[in-house]
Amino acid sequence: MKISLIQITNKRNVPLSSLYLIANLEKYNHSVDLKLIDTQYIKQKQNKPLKSDLIEKAFKNTNKIVAIGCQNNMLPYMLYSIIKFKKKHPDKIIILGGYGPLEFAEEIIEKFNEINFVVKDRDPSILAKLVTNLEDNHSNIKVKGVVFKKNNKIRYTHSKKDYIDNYFFPKRHKINLKNQNLFTLLSIEGCPYKCAFCSPFMQSKKLKFRPLDQIIEEIKWALKNSNKKIKFGFIDEAFVYNKKRVYDLCNKLKENNLKIKWSCYGRINHMDEELMKKMKDSGCDSIFYGIESGSDKILKQIRKGFNSKLANDILIKSKKYFKEVTASFIWGYPFESLNDLKKTLLMIQFLNLNKIKILPHLLTVMKNTEIYLKYKQKTKFSESLSTSMNYPLKPEPKEFKNFVKNNKEIFLGYNYYDHDSFKKKIKIMNRPI
Ligand code: SF4
Repeated sequence: MKISLIQITNKRNVPLSSLYLIANLEKYNHSVDLKLIDTQYIKQKQNKPLKSDLIEKAFKNTNKIVAIGCQNNMLPYMLYSIIKFKKKHPDKIIILGGYGPLEFAEEIIEKFNEINFVVKDRDPSILAKLVTNLEDNHSNIKVKGVVFKKNNKIRYTHSKKDYIDNYFFPKRHKINLKNQNLFTLLSIEGCPYKCAFCSPFMQSKKLKFRPLDQIIEEIKWALKNSNKKIKFGFIDEAFVYNKKRVYDLCNKLKENNLKIKWSCYGRINHMDEELMKKMKDSGCDSIFYGIESGSDKILKQIRKGFNSKLANDILIKSKKYFKEVTASFIWGYPFESLNDLKKTLLMIQFLNLNKIKILPHLLTVMKNTEIYLKYKQKTKFSESLSTSMNYPLKPEPKEFKNFVKNNKEIFLGYNYYDHDSFKKKIKIMNRPI
C-alpha cells in the first residue's frame, strides 16, 4: 500500500525518524511518498505569525493514509492544519506520531475526531504494522502501541517488545544527501538518567544498543553518497554512559580509516580527559552538555548527579579537546530562588569567558515530569513566552489563538511555572548575558 508520510524538519539535517519508519514500511511491502516541511521558515518566523499554508501545502495530493511526524512545538500548528484539511477530505486516514503527540495521545484522540490514530510507543515498526492492519481489516485494529477510538471508547495496548532491531539501516536513499550538512546517527535507544524536568517517555532503565558494525556501515554509506563535508551527529542522550562502547566505536572508526568529524552528547559525571582524548583522536570535534543550573541546590533537586564545580572543571577540560563545547542551562524552576539564578548567571559568565557556547532556556512545562506532578497548580498560560516547546502565541491570528486557548490542557508548552521571583527573573534573562 502506498502512504504519504509528512515530517517537519530542518532541510539541512537528515530526517532520521522518517527514514527509520520508511525502512520498516518497506519491509512490510508498503511504499512511501515522503513530504518534508522545512523548518527554516519557522526559524525565520521569530515574532511573525506562522504561515500555515506551508503546512497545508504538504497535505496536497496525499494518499488515503497520511502519517505525520511532529515535535511538541509544532503540535498546535499541525492539529490546526489537519482539522482544516479533514473538513475538505473526510475520507483520509490520519496517523499522528513523533514526540509532539506522545504525552497527549489519549486526549488528542478523545477531542479531535479528525485524527484516527496516534502512535504512542517508540517502536518504528508500529506504523508499518498499523498500515498492514488497515489494509487487511480496517475495522479490527489489533496493533499494539497505537491509541484510537472504537465504539466511542479509547483503545490502547502498550507494546512491550524490545524493538531496537527495528532500528536497522534507515532508508537514506529517500533524500538527497548532497544538500545535508549533518548526518544524524542513532546508536542507543533510551536514556538511563532521571532528570526531574524530563518526560518519563525519554527515560528507560534498560538501554538498547545498536551493533557498532551497523553504525560503521552507515557511516561508510554516507561517505559514499553525501557531500564530502558532511558531519556526523550522534543523537544518543546516553552516548557516553557506557565508556567501553565509546572506546570501541573510536577504535572501529580508526581501524576502518574513517576520517570523519562527529559530535555527540556528553554527561559531566561520565567524562574524563582520557575519554576526551580518545574521542578527539577519532574525529569528535563538538560536544553538548545539559548543565541546567549553576546552583548545587537546584542540581541536587533535579537529580543531575554532579555539582557545579565538577561541571566547570569538565567543561573547561572539554574545551581543550573539542572545537565546540555547548552548555545548556534552564531557568524558571518553581523552586529556584533569585540567588540560585544568580549562581547560574555567574557560571554562564565564567564559561563565556572560556569560549563555551551557552544555550539558556526557560523551563518547559511537560506532562508527567516529576516537577509537573508536584507543581502543576502553579502553571500559568502565556501568549508571549517562548520555550523549546512552543513559539510565542502573540503574533498569531485570532482564530489560531482561540484554537490553542480552547485546548490549553493539550498545549502545555504555552505555560510556565509561576512563582514569587518569576517577573524579576524574566527581566534579568531578557538582558544580554
Ligand atoms: S533530560 Fe536528557 S539526560 Fe535527562 S533524563 Fe531526559 S533525556 Fe535523559
